[in-house]
Amino acid sequence: MAVGVFDNHAHANEYTGFGAGEVARRFRAAGGVGLVFVSLLSWSIGGVPGDRGWVVRLYDHTVRNAEVARGVGLVSGAVVGVHPAECVRLLEAGWGAGEVEEFMRWAVDLAARYVEEGRAVGMGEFGRPHWPVGEGVVDLCNRVLLYVFERARDVGAVVHLHLERRGRETVDSIAALVARAGVDPARVVMHHVEGALAGYAYARGLSPSVPLGRRGEFEDALKSGPVFVVESDYIDDKSRPGAVIPPWTLASKLKQYVARGVLTEEDMYKICVENVRRIYGDRLNI
Ligand SMILES: [Zn+2]
Repeated sequence: MAVGVFDNHAHANEYTGFGAGEVARRFRAAGGVGLVFVSLLSWSIGGVPGDRGWVVRLYDHTVRNAEVARGVGLVSGAVVGVHPAECVRLLEAGWGAGEVEEFMRWAVDLAARYVEEGRAVGMGEFGRPHWPVGEGVVDLCNRVLLYVFERARDVGAVVHLHLERRGRETVDSIAALVARAGVDPARVVMHHVEGALAGYAYARGLSPSVPLGRRGEFEDALKSGPVFVVESDYIDDKSRPGAVIPPWTLASKLKQYVARGVLTEEDMYKICVENVRRIYGDRLNI
């Protein structure tokens, strides 16, 4: 029997796109069996950055998306958190670094509570901006990240990280924070990792998640073996077509790789089942 496709990181947004129901149905029709929905930016659902009430609504939106996907017959879970872009937005709006850090720590605690209560499987996207920012911003994000890992350790949460792409330096800095917090590195997902870095991230115990929308990166990742999971990073925004691939395209691409012999059925099983179990354990019934 052919192995079903698992999309490790996607967003659904009925305000700008199809919404979770249609995304899940299309994915399932293309051979998808499971996907993880991750929180968007608070303003992507009409919210105000820095508003705690909107963070609650944002997390609830993500939880609902995963419920909708399960209703369609997929394995699904929610990963809830506040994107590092929100930190930058608040600093630009004149918030002090201390105020931003306090807000983010509150958002981290709230995410941990969602995991503890079984409403979410993980926390994210937390991390650092992928575009160049000042050292102070990076330091602030790293302090928040350390707290994310500590809380994830306490509640047994998976973490999805949004990071810059600076090669091994990026991986090493995360591995150091993870070790300091004492969280299981296998539960720490490097979302949108550079394909060529997947093997290195895995060797450091982390869980690389490779985007399939970037030409050549999947092939680069495979050179180190099937040690990663895959993701569409779909943003479900009709005003930005082609920004990323939809989950159903991810499914058909993977099936093409198998048909062309780039990927064996065993590799597919590792990527879409075994590696998913390594990350989520009992939290996802894949
Ligand atoms: Zn994302």
